[in-house]
Amino acid sequence: MAVKYDYLIVGAGLFGATFAHLATSNGKKCLVIDKRNHIGGNIYCKEVNGINVHVYGAHIFHTNDSEIWNFVNSLVPFNRYTNCPVANYKGRLYNLPFNMNTFYQMWGVTTPEEAVAKLDEQRSKAMAALCGREPANLEEQALSLVGKDIYETLIKEYTEKQWGRKCSELPAFIIKRLPVRLTYDNNYFNDCYQGIPIGGYNKMINALLQGSEIKVGCDFFHDKEYYKSIADKIVFTGAIDQYFDYCYGNLEYRTVTFEEQVLDVPNYQGNAVINYTDAQTPYTRVIEHKHFEKFGAEVYENPCTVISKEYSSEWKPGAEPFYPVNDERNMRVYEQYHRLAEMEKDVIFGGRLAEYRYYDMAPTIARAIETYCNESNI
Ligand code: UDP
Repeated sequence: MAVKYDYLIVGAGLFGATFAHLATSNGKKCLVIDKRNHIGGNIYCKEVNGINVHVYGAHIFHTNDSEIWNFVNSLVPFNRYTNCPVANYKGRLYNLPFNMNTFYQMWGVTTPEEAVAKLDEQRSKAMAALCGREPANLEEQALSLVGKDIYETLIKEYTEKQWGRKCSELPAFIIKRLPVRLTYDNNYFNDCYQGIPIGGYNKMINALLQGSEIKVGCDFFHDKEYYKSIADKIVFTGAIDQYFDYCYGNLEYRTVTFEEQVLDVPNYQGNAVINYTDAQTPYTRVIEHKHFEKFGAEVYENPCTVISKEYSSEWKPGAEPFYPVNDERNMRVYEQYHRLAEMEKDVIFGGRLAEYRYYDMAPTIARAIETYCNESNI
């Protein structure tokens, strides 16, 4: 079999598509395959009643990196969406991330000075228990960041529902993603650039994959040797443990399933994202998709709406792997696979599943660019 492609890219998600874009822009020939019947990986959207539905969960693009922001905007213009999720704990609403609005709703404090005094009081026990060492798990991290009341109302039950593990057994970095602010600012992210592609993420993926050959519904593992024979190099973005036939055992993931409903109301919950932070509600959050792209009066132009209830569970074979569980056991197993990957000739491993990392979109793109530049000595 003659080699036909410079790169065979396994997985048409954001990492694979960005790599393909850079390679084809530099005159390389790429074949991109995906076992799903669509491109885009987890940023894929489908249209339902004129609304772009984030099929694999809410994706909000945010970055501090002007080069990445300019890059994605050169593919498709972005809107002004700003993520301001609301938490619902047993019927009471709180703003997120943790900011002056939250502190007011929680404790009735109205000034930053009052809020600091309350936070210090709430954190004091956790801080004393640490005796100057770094928090060793998510529970310690959360208690030392925001204290007991917020931990118990907005973090503990939500996190244990999302991850299926005790907060004391989860890595601290997961909660460090969330800002704590002494201003009335409900923007979930600190980054200076944020938005959603106008017309949806599929436009961005289509732009990235222009110039590549694409085959969907095509599983690399059905004929690994054939696929290896048709390209000089492989960019593998699937699960690294599967690539090596699970020889060191399974890596664990959390999976997410969505219960989608079309409702005959123009505005169901008044916000794109509402988190249910109590343990009794079986889902973690409800997404109302139109709010990602329609603002103010525009929301009422469409008389119906689409919502998705998000349920989190442990990954089992056949399910979609979403969140890597980066605890000690899994990281030890991953390191073994990573060493094998480094020895694998002419295969580049990249992205959330191949690197077993909790990547947001902008870092995924940055990593793909870095990988391509290293690969081609740019
Ligand atoms: N989190 C929480 N309460 C919330 C939202 C988030 O405790 O209402 C914690 C939870 O542990 C979660 C982490 O913060 O895993 C990161 O949340 P984020 O919304 O960034 O996660 P993603 O959107 O990637 O699921």
